[in-house]
Amino acid sequence: KAKALGKGRSQVFHDEMDTDYRYRQRLKAELKQAVADGTLSLVFQPIVDLKSRRVVSCEALARWHHPELGSIPPSLFIPIAEETGLISEISRWVLATATAECRNWPEEVSVSVNISARDFRNADVAGMVKAALASSGLAPHRLEIEVTETAVIEERAAATKILAKLAKQGIGIALDDFGTGYSSLSYLQALPFTKLKIDRSFVMDIAENPRSLKLLSNVAQLGKDINLTVTAEGVETEEQLNLIATHSKVDQIQGYLFGVPLPRREVAELIDRMAARATLERVLTVGTT
Ligand code: C2E
Ligand code: MG
Ligand code: MG
Ligand code: MG
Repeated sequence: KAKALGKGRSQVFHDEMDTDYRYRQRLKAELKQAVADGTLSLVFQPIVDLKSRRVVSCEALARWHHPELGSIPPSLFIPIAEETGLISEISRWVLATATAECRNWPEEVSVSVNISARDFRNADVAGMVKAALASSGLAPHRLEIEVTETAVIEERAAATKILAKLAKQGIGIALDDFGTGYSSLSYLQALPFTKLKIDRSFVMDIAENPRSLKLLSNVAQLGKDINLTVTAEGVETEEQLNLIATHSKVDQIQGYLFGVPLPRREVAELIDRMAARATLERVLTVGTT
């Protein structure tokens, strides 16, 4: 009986794997088509200065709306793009589109673009950045490249060389999802980072767990000690914001509290609205003191 059960189970696993495999194969082919047809889209999430409450940057995030399957999350299609090598074409497109869009925003607002490990290995990232800046006319200091710990460690030699070249031009280099990777910390010394983005998992339960808040504030302190701008990702509530403001040296906030990733028109409106709001607050404060 046990044997029959075992066999039945493995058959189920096998079928599931088969379905998964076929599903991924289908997505691979269709992602390739979507990239070729230019049907991916880009949304922008505001990153807000904690003190001034103005938008200082927006992160460009890719979206894939599949005609039959609906919206496919980047956590699913980005790894597929990395496996197939399609990522370099996507990165080129994101860089070009994001830098062009940033030209429509106020001078003080930058744009952040995610670059994969695979890009450092296979694509001419420096050339792609150069082309994007040239065709958009965006000043280099208004562009920021986001890389993860994993990307930096997997492609250490290439990443070191390319990031040094970009940093020299005044392009910002952010270490994304900080705290979730290998955390060997030695690359913090070797690479020209300008910003530390503390992963959402450190922010998630600070309101419930005092240890999490301590951890977050110590990670922020580490970033400040080595002269980095520190951003907290995934801030969703007013309570989290207040705790961060009171107990940490975090400079910037990114999260659903201030805005979800938005299409270009909506993010431009949000930038203006928050700037107007910040000015009003300042005038009111000056008026009463
Ligand atoms: P990431 O670079 O860390 O981007 C931040 C992710 O956190 C985004 O997810 C964003 O929507 C989400 N997020 C922001 N605030 C909150 C919040 O308050 N709560 C919660 N629950 N989530 C929040 P998204 O857009 O699904 O992207 C996931 C990941 O996919 C990104 O993580 C990035 O690693 C990758 N990705 C997205 N677009 C691109 C791209 O154009 N190129 C590359 N290479 N990777 C991309
Ligand atoms: Mg990012
Ligand atoms: Mg991130
Ligand atoms: Mg993250």
